[in-house]
Amino acid sequence: MNVAFKQPIKPRHSLDSIAEALLLPSGIDGVYARTAVFEQVADGLAALISRYRETDTEVLRFPPVMSRRQLEKSGYLKSFPHFLGCVSCLAGDESHIRSSVERYEAGEDWTGGLAAADLVLSPAACYPVYPLVASRGGVPAGGLIFDVACDCFRREPSKLLDRLQSFRMREYVCIGSPEQIQNFRARWMKRAEGFAGQLALPYRIEQASDPFFGRGGKMMAMSQVEQELKFELLIPVHSDEQPTACMSFNCHRDHFGATWNLRTASGATAHTGCVAFGIDRLALALFVTHGVELAQWPTRVRQALMV
Ligand code: 5GP
Ligand code: ZN
Repeated sequence: MNVAFKQPIKPRHSLDSIAEALLLPSGIDGVYARTAVFEQVADGLAALISRYRETDTEVLRFPPVMSRRQLEKSGYLKSFPHFLGCVSCLAGDESHIRSSVERYEAGEDWTGGLAAADLVLSPAACYPVYPLVASRGGVPAGGLIFDVACDCFRREPSKLLDRLQSFRMREYVCIGSPEQIQNFRARWMKRAEGFAGQLALPYRIEQASDPFFGRGGKMMAMSQVEQELKFELLIPVHSDEQPTACMSFNCHRDHFGATWNLRTASGATAHTGCVAFGIDRLALALFVTHGVELAQWPTRVRQALMV
């Protein structure tokens, strides 16, 4: 069944023309240099998202790497081992490192000398926030809200412009009682409609599941749908039939609360949820919808983004 999009769909601008003007190739699929105009829109999105921030939200910006131990403990290898990028370095003494360099200089494979470091590339912006809260103690009665962001990595090489290996994610994260999480997500699903409306983007919000690994993953995805744990804001970037997820609204139930022993004021295991904005996908959706010339964008969109 194809549910209609909110707001009229305009003829799409070609992805090829956008790539040529705004996203320059790096030689690796899914990794691009972004031009000034693309960044102007990405910055405008970041500022607009900040204006939607609720009071008493703590802002944290994370680097593109995080603790390997923390991501392992979060269960990432069970759910998404196929996406993970682990930092590896030339460890060991000087002679060991030198022999790797010499192999490279001799035109041989030098990568055998690499060893996994205690770092992984962050696959989503919210993973580091739960252990950080755990290290501070309990969750207050009113719950906690965070505004987080980082450059994310997922090993999904693709020639499609909306499927990047390295992309930017912004999230609002809520930690608290099950009711607080449900309310947080409901508020954001409503608010996201206003956000997409302000940007004159055609969209629809639909239930979704994550691309869990392997055969067992199909069961996890089915259970996720059954429990209504994930919704996405979809925008037609390539086609109306297969729109692109540009935001997601996630409920993790007590997964992170139990993993990190996060307790609410009543002593119960905390629930968590997050709303994620894919900055690069939202920017791409704006260019596809309104074209590469900012001067020709609708005035209200330019005002919302201050471009
Ligand atoms: P999720 O954790 O729900 O998979 O991802 C959150 C958001 O990150 C998505 O709604 C999307 O906007 C963005 N995102 C996820 N995967 C990719 C990707 O491969 N490329 C880009 N550009 N954005 C992505
Ligand atoms: Zn998240």
